[in-house]
Amino acid sequence: MKTKIWLSSPHMGGNEQNYVQEAFDTNWIAPLGPNVNAFEDSIEDYLGNSVKVAALSSGTAAIHLALELLGVSHGDEVICQTFTFSASANPITYLGGRPVFVDSERETWNISPELLEKAILDCLANGKKPKAIIAVHLYGMPYKVDEINEIAAKYNIPVIEDSAEALGSTYMNNPCSTFGAIGILSFNGNKIITTSGGGALVSENEDLKKKAVFLATQARDNAPHYEHSHIGYNYRMSNVLAGIGRGQMEVLEDRVNSRRCNFDYYKSNLAHISEIEFLEEPDGFRSNRWLSCILIPSFNVREKIRLALLEEDIESRPLWKPMHLQPVFKDCKIYVDGTSEELFQRGLCLPSGSNLQKEDLDRVIQIILKVLIHDK
Ligand SMILES: *Cc1c(COP(=O)(O)O)cnc(C)c1O
Repeated sequence: MKTKIWLSSPHMGGNEQNYVQEAFDTNWIAPLGPNVNAFEDSIEDYLGNSVKVAALSSGTAAIHLALELLGVSHGDEVICQTFTFSASANPITYLGGRPVFVDSERETWNISPELLEKAILDCLANGKKPKAIIAVHLYGMPYKVDEINEIAAKYNIPVIEDSAEALGSTYMNNPCSTFGAIGILSFNGNKIITTSGGGALVSENEDLKKKAVFLATQARDNAPHYEHSHIGYNYRMSNVLAGIGRGQMEVLEDRVNSRRCNFDYYKSNLAHISEIEFLEEPDGFRSNRWLSCILIPSFNVREKIRLALLEEDIESRPLWKPMHLQPVFKDCKIYVDGTSEELFQRGLCLPSGSNLQKEDLDRVIQIILKVLIHDK
């Protein structure tokens, strides 16, 4: 029996257990402590640009806090890229806000500047200025940062940069998560590095970090007893898990390189097949290639490939189903042109873990080739 190949599995570097042991040895088994501070420091060093990082319990929590910090409340409209994972949009509804979904462009698969501006103008015409724009670097590919920032600045709307899949990606040599009013990161088990579960809020504004930590630790006012003038959350990262994060940050660059090598290997072995299309990097865009994705001409062939891989115990996954097609968001306003729907129909994420061996990738490639050749 051949071993199972996962889509994207955790890949420890070696030092994680030492930092976790440190937490045990010093009895810092709490949602604060030396590992939390050191993990934040290591991310701040990595991102540079004097950004501040607050380590949290998840990326979803980070988006929730980001929206709250930007003043989103009941009845507010928030523009969100429709082609994404549901965690980008769910927190809008936690605050009673209403998502307005905007489609992607074909070059990066991320939020379309044209449709974004159309959505903003429409909201303004209806007398309601959107409170924020959630743009996503999907699969690690940066969105069109300059174009999106220009529109956001023109209408004075803050951008929440969902960088959950893009730690290690860069745009014009600057790291993703540092381009918006607030950036967010995820360290969930399947992301490029992981703390098993975790996230972070990134901001250039130290005050925003302080406010995020305040809200994430039950919003305790400064008093000897427990005094509260705000509703708070329990969203801080555990010091035990932050130990895993410290070890993972030491190997982040290796992880990015391995994932980029996976993509290049798939491409060099499959690009000669005219039916298969890859997402290229525009000039100045550098993706961490969190997941290697391909487009196939038809849904039927896409499914044939997915099922043939499954038969061999290989996990692959259709591209994200756009939020405007999700039953739970069926009543939301949308600005779409069919782009994300087509990507969803035709796209497949291939096994992309940084711990995959060449033999694993070869197994995937052989199955894809077999299906496509058989199909002719
Ligand atoms: C994973 C992910 C999130 C949420 O992060 P969690 O840490 O799992 O809560 C948000 N947005 C995108 C695009 C993601 O892929």
